Amino acid sequence: MTTVTASTQAASTAKHVSHWIGGQPWTGTAERHGEIYDPALGEVSGTVDFASAALVGEVVAVAKAAFDGWRQSSLAKRTQVLFAFRELLNARKEDVAALITDEHGKVLSDALGEVTRGLEVVEFACGIPHLLKGGFSEGVSTKVDVYSIRQPLGVVGIISPFNFPAMVPMWFFPLAIAAGNSVIIKPSEKDPSAIMLLAELWAQAGLPAGVFNVVHGDKESVDALLTHPDVKSISFVGSTPIARYVYETGTAHGKRVQALGGAKNHMVVLPDADLDLAADAAVNAGFGSAGERCMAISALVVVDSVADALVAKIAERVATLSTGDGREGADMGPLVTAVHRDKVASYVDAGVAAGASLVCDGRTVDPKGAANGFWLGPTLFDHVTTDMSIYTDEIFGPVLAVVRVQSYDEALELVNAHPYGNGTAIFTNDGGAARRYQNEVEVGMVGINVPIPVPMAYYSFGGWKSSLFGDSHAHGMEGVHFFTRGKVVTARWLDPSHGGINLGFPQNV
Ligand code: NAD
Repeated sequence: MTTVTASTQAASTAKHVSHWIGGQPWTGTAERHGEIYDPALGEVSGTVDFASAALVGEVVAVAKAAFDGWRQSSLAKRTQVLFAFRELLNARKEDVAALITDEHGKVLSDALGEVTRGLEVVEFACGIPHLLKGGFSEGVSTKVDVYSIRQPLGVVGIISPFNFPAMVPMWFFPLAIAAGNSVIIKPSEKDPSAIMLLAELWAQAGLPAGVFNVVHGDKESVDALLTHPDVKSISFVGSTPIARYVYETGTAHGKRVQALGGAKNHMVVLPDADLDLAADAAVNAGFGSAGERCMAISALVVVDSVADALVAKIAERVATLSTGDGREGADMGPLVTAVHRDKVASYVDAGVAAGASLVCDGRTVDPKGAANGFWLGPTLFDHVTTDMSIYTDEIFGPVLAVVRVQSYDEALELVNAHPYGNGTAIFTNDGGAARRYQNEVEVGMVGINVPIPVPMAYYSFGGWKSSLFGDSHAHGMEGVHFFTRGKVVTARWLDPSHGGINLGFPQNV
């Protein structure tokens, strides 16, 4: 089979996606493949090669060989490449978005939004000379100076999920590359094309071959990265069980690991909130990207006195949403695969069986799209209790569960008792209540009248509890630190006043 790169695939009916190694598409023959779907059509649109452990070993060698030259290149040179990549990506962002919609299913405007948020991290990384500045203390002892520097790790691995095929890798690789590392990305096998276009853009930007590599695959390639001695760090984003596994395996093999996991994000609505604002926010954050966002709102915790009114306003809005092909102007696209659609639908069945009130039933959706698309419409449950699986589990689909509470304290207790702690939001006009919430809630990212509080690139993204394993969040200064190691130099230059022989521990005088 001929290997073609992502940008030439758009018009092809049966595309074939392969690896990107040493600055070019891989031309070997893979033993194993995965199928790529067009979720809006419900059809296979192509295949993706799966890397063997042996091939991953070869890629690590390529990346390691490229590392020395790249880490020694000047900050001026690295910054020029980053600025060039930024310009190229900005010019091609619609093309990246189109590839995402074809394989993920999210609507085009949403796909473009994800590319734009990724671009912000590239822009942040363009400031790497400033971000890498260390400290300098003159004269810490007689004629002795001390200074700190940060150096790259070497070959770093990035393993990403299906739901943000461009943005999530861009949470990591701009800073990793800017800091002087070489990178191997293992993207989701479900939507592998967007990253291939990004690889082409890096080559056009002048990044030396071997600094940015892509291997496609499944557990075999992930395990090969987790255990290879020349891979120095792993940045993982995906579901909690795999995040935990990646963290435990990677750290057991001596690597620095940041593993971001799943989520169940609560939006608390207090009685004094603007209910129209809250209803708009709940619909946008609950059903955008068909709920396949780690920051989607899936649990709405509403103080009982305003719950009837809020649920009515949400139901009104849901009735106006169109579900259909993301390329043709629908509000909400399909789910990523038939298997995932069926799993999400089975949660709706479970919610009904458990006695929750089904206000809007996405199973009966009339999609604007092909009959075989992986459709499920927006679904709203009221009177959900905390023992129901539609509340306890991350569903990762367009299902919003309303849990009624009597007070702020009850809402807080419920959010803090949940094992996930990725994002949360509070809707209120009471500044004191909002301030208490930001202080008391045990969640990594908090929105105040903002439903999806994804931090800007210069802050760090990441949750608490079962939503993150490891102690570094993504991008911002935590990202700079994750992809570098600190070194402190103590220097004394030739001076005739040296102290002669002294076997005692150095004391500063
Ligand atoms: P996933 O865990 O199934 O897959 C993530 C990555 O791990 C993929 O590259 C996949 O190929 C690989 N993988 C899958 N099974 C594996 C195994 N057994 N061993 C080794 N590697 C394996 O996740 P997904 O379905 O692609 O993405 C959705 C999940 O990602 C949701 O749980 C969502 O909340 C989470 N997510 C979290 C964040 C965050 O910032 N916390 C962001 C985006 C997505």
